[in-house]
Amino acid sequence: MNPVLQTIFDRIKAAETIMLFRHIRIDGDCVGATKGLQEIIRRTWPEKSVYLVDDEHSDYLSFLGADDAPVSDEAYANALGIVIDVGNRERISNQKYALCQEIIKIDHHIERDPYGHINWVEDWRSSACEMIAAFYEAFQDRLVLSKRAAECLYTGMVTDSGRFMYEGVTGDTMRLAGLILDSGVDTETLYSHLYLRTFDELKFKAAIYENMQLTPGGVAWIHVDMDMQKRFGLTFETACTSISSLSDIKGVLCWLAFIDTPEGEIRVRLRSRFASINTIAEKYHGGGHACASGATVYSADEMQALIADADEHIRDYKATHEGWL
Ligand code: AMP
Repeated sequence: MNPVLQTIFDRIKAAETIMLFRHIRIDGDCVGATKGLQEIIRRTWPEKSVYLVDDEHSDYLSFLGADDAPVSDEAYANALGIVIDVGNRERISNQKYALCQEIIKIDHHIERDPYGHINWVEDWRSSACEMIAAFYEAFQDRLVLSKRAAECLYTGMVTDSGRFMYEGVTGDTMRLAGLILDSGVDTETLYSHLYLRTFDELKFKAAIYENMQLTPGGVAWIHVDMDMQKRFGLTFETACTSISSLSDIKGVLCWLAFIDTPEGEIRVRLRSRFASINTIAEKYHGGGHACASGATVYSADEMQALIADADEHIRDYKATHEGWL
C-alpha cells in the first residue's frame, strides 16, 4: 500500500472539521468522489463535521443529493481540506479551499501543480472515484461504505471510464468496481439517471451528425455555436455532451467539440484514441489527460488553428505508427 494512504487516513481520523472540494464544470467523477468520501466519513465518524460547499449544480447529477449550505470562513480555517479530481489550483471550484489549515490533494490527472500539503496523485487511475474506492479498500475494516456512498463512487467510475471502455481501465478498476457494486448499487436506476435521453436531445444528436466536419488527416469536429444551442434549447451542459457523438468514427483518432459559452469564449473538448492530445490542449489554455483534455479558444481563427494543429498531430501519428483504427 502507498504509505500516503495511511497518512490521509490518520489526518481524516484526527480532524474535527473536513471540507471537500472538486473542480469547476462539475462532472460525475468529481461529484461522485466528493460525495462518496463525505458519506464514508459521515457514516464512519458521525461526530465529525464534513462539508461540501459549491455554487455549481448539475441537473443530471442531482440524484446524488444536494450540497451543503455555505459555512463561515472560521470553519474553513479550522478544517482539513480535501481537494479531489483537480489537477491545478485554478480549477478548484470553491477557492476558499486556500483558507484551510491543511490541504490534501487526491487526483488522477498528470501532476503539474502539487498544491496540497499532502499529495496523492496516481495518473494511471481511470477515475478519482477509483482512488476513493482504493482508499476504502485499504481501510475497509475501519470504514463504513453505505449504499449511497457506493452509488456515488460507482457513478464516477462508470462515467469517467466511458462505461469501463477507456484505455485507463485496468484490472484494478474492475476489482474495485466489483467491491463497490457488491455494496448494493442499483444499476438499473443509476444508468437510467445517467443515460436516458429526451426526444429533443436525440434530435440534437442528429444535427451533430448532420453538421460534423472532417479534416484530411482524420480529425472530426463540431462547433455547437449559440445559434445551434438556441435552436435546440440546449443548456451549456447538454451542448457539451456533443463530444460523445463523435467518438466512434473509423480512422478518426481525434475528435473535437467547440461549444460557445455564454461569456463569449469557445470551450473545447478534445478526445482521442491511440494518439495522445493533451499537448494540444496545453497549447490552447487547457490540459488534462493523454486522451481526454479540455481547452478554451477565444476566436474563430484560434479554433481553426487548433483544428490545424490536431490534424497535423494525427497525420504525424498515423505516419509513424501502425495498428491504429
Ligand atoms: P472535459 O472535456 O471537460 O471533460 O475535460 C477532459 C479532461 O481534461 C478532464 O479530466 C479535465 O479535468 C481536463 N481539463 C479540462 N479543461 C482543462 C483545463 N482548462 N486545464 C486543465 N485540465 C483541463
